[in-house]
Amino acid sequence: AKEQGRNSYQLYTPVMNDRAFERLSMENSLRRALERNEFELYYQPKVNIKSQKIVGMEALVRWRHPEKGLILPGDFIPVAEDTGLIVPMGEWVLKTACAQNKAWQNAGFPPMRVAVNLSARQFQLQNLQEMVAGVLGETGLDPCWLELEITETIAMQNAEFTVKTLKELKEMGIQLSIDDFGTGYSSLSYLKRFPINKLKIDKSFVREINTDHDNAAIASAVIVLGQSLKLGVIAEGVETEEQLEFLKEHQCDEIQGYLFGRPVPAMEFEAMILQNIIN
Ligand code: C2E
Ligand code: CA
Ligand code: CA
Ligand code: CA
Repeated sequence: AKEQGRNSYQLYTPVMNDRAFERLSMENSLRRALERNEFELYYQPKVNIKSQKIVGMEALVRWRHPEKGLILPGDFIPVAEDTGLIVPMGEWVLKTACAQNKAWQNAGFPPMRVAVNLSARQFQLQNLQEMVAGVLGETGLDPCWLELEITETIAMQNAEFTVKTLKELKEMGIQLSIDDFGTGYSSLSYLKRFPINKLKIDKSFVREINTDHDNAAIASAVIVLGQSLKLGVIAEGVETEEQLEFLKEHQCDEIQGYLFGRPVPAMEFEAMILQNIIN
């Protein structure tokens, strides 16, 4: 006690800044969430614009947090991506989506394609093809009923690598789409070389399609581009009848959006399919 006094000093401990702390605790709870199976898939219908029939669905991940309730991907995917947790999480998403789709087929529902989003990290994985092949083998889903969505930005980041990876996936019989199309900077010569099936017009263009001339011009240009490259075109974020009319007039192939159906849990999606079959 005597030693203290004037010669004693206190260690200075830097306070972790709030953001870093938040990140770290988010990382820990994400890790726990994976172990405790707190993730869920919601499904949103993709609809043929002419027949109004559901032709497929997009699987969208949600986090059912024990205290905070349902958390949307925008609030945890970026951290999952930074920490690499997106890799095991993405595999869980793929496995669950394929198993669910197979279960619906086994139950006698008309076969539909399930679309799964790939993050940048996942797309860069050396063993992506093996992982996907493993999941397809394990779940017994025919590859033709799986669609992978990668964003335009990811596709263009390393376009040569993208050509090679997409070719391998394509050879497996999987369908491929470019997501958020129009928000990145595509080189048209690469677009031609990507073995893709579909372009997905980003919802930011659909939002003001009836009032903003630029958005309308971009959306219709993407549709024409798709037609000339013999690619299907789907518009996301369709919320109103007016948007639907515009897209119909310009001969877009498919739509996805709140107008037809929000993303819902598997059980509710099943009800949506049944309703759609009857009508
Ligand atoms: P995205 O792939 O562009 O998915 C479309 C988003 O638009 C979804 O948001 C969907 O709920 C929302 N949406 C659908 N229809 C409408 C509409 O009519 N109006 C509006 N305003 N929004 C609509 P969500 O589910 O919050 O997902 C956000 C993003 O998180 C996705 O954007 C995707 O980039 C990412 N994400 C979601 N699930 C996964 C996943 O399993 N893996 C990975 N890597 N990313 C995912
Ligand atoms: Ca998507
Ligand atoms: Ca999108
Ligand atoms: Ca998006």
